Amino acid sequence: MYDYDLLVVGSANADLVIGVERRPAAGETVLGSDLAVHPGGKGANQAVAAARLGARTALLARVGDDAHGRLLLDAQRAAGVDTTGVLAGGAPTGVALITVDPSGDNSIVVSPGANGRLTPADVRAASGLLHASKVVSAQLEIPLETVVEVVRNLAPGGRFVLNPSPPRPLPAEVLAVCDPLIVNEHEAKVILGEAGDTAADPEDWARLLLAKGPRSVVVTLGAEGALVASADGGVRRVAPVKVDAVDTTGAGDSFTAALAWRLGAGASLAQAAAYAARVGAVSVTRRGAQESFPTAEEVDAL
Ligand code: ADP
Repeated sequence: MYDYDLLVVGSANADLVIGVERRPAAGETVLGSDLAVHPGGKGANQAVAAARLGARTALLARVGDDAHGRLLLDAQRAAGVDTTGVLAGGAPTGVALITVDPSGDNSIVVSPGANGRLTPADVRAASGLLHASKVVSAQLEIPLETVVEVVRNLAPGGRFVLNPSPPRPLPAEVLAVCDPLIVNEHEAKVILGEAGDTAADPEDWARLLLAKGPRSVVVTLGAEGALVASADGGVRRVAPVKVDAVDTTGAGDSFTAALAWRLGAGASLAQAAAYAARVGAVSVTRRGAQESFPTAEEVDAL
């Protein structure tokens, strides 16, 4: 028996957001709105999304011993995430400094801070958590060698889900265990590199990605839904869910969390992706990232 449906290994950031009339050019100072501070980071977002759906969820991450770290921990606990795996100290909490202009265009500077100090040794020290988790998900806002250590420490029969964001080329050792590898269009292009030049459409990306070694692949297509691909099932479309989108921040994170949870519960890849598409669709109807993630009841009501 597993204690957790999902362990998320990844980043936790404080998102510091200021609205501006115009984003500043080099050497320029502009005045903006009051500062808004939101809990974010792909790892923290996935954990909150899964817990809110009802998954028994734990987070393995590193924050600073500071106010932003406490804000992130509070947000995790409020959502019901087990935070025994959240380490504190070594560097300030990661932050994203975000300026947004009236058209919605933004400029973002990320300081990974403590996320960059989540080490392979931290993963080995958390092997109890890894072995207690049915599904483990990760992203790439932590060091790649840390993700490599995660795949080396999975529970026997445990399942690994990766959203390679921000994208970079992946070692074969990591690709081989992804079940699935979940990418949006931009991530698909980076992971494929030159191999993607021959791709005419997302179905081709899915096939080419599968040929790189993962057990299965999901390509998310925003308002167009998603594709799932596996060796035995071929490439299949997941129908989009029609909603009035107001803010797509965190859609991919909630999609990944929901998919990982449903797979652990025994759903097929296509079933899990269809559910995840509904979760992503609800999240885009609301502003923000973690604030926008639905409960299972809200997904059922869609
Ligand atoms: P990312 O946030 O990683 O770029 P996507 O934008 O592809 O990922 O969104 C992830 C999933 O969320 C999509 O596959 C889809 O199911 C859902 N989604 C995103 N945007 C919309 C939208 N405008 N309408 C309905 N569903 C959406």
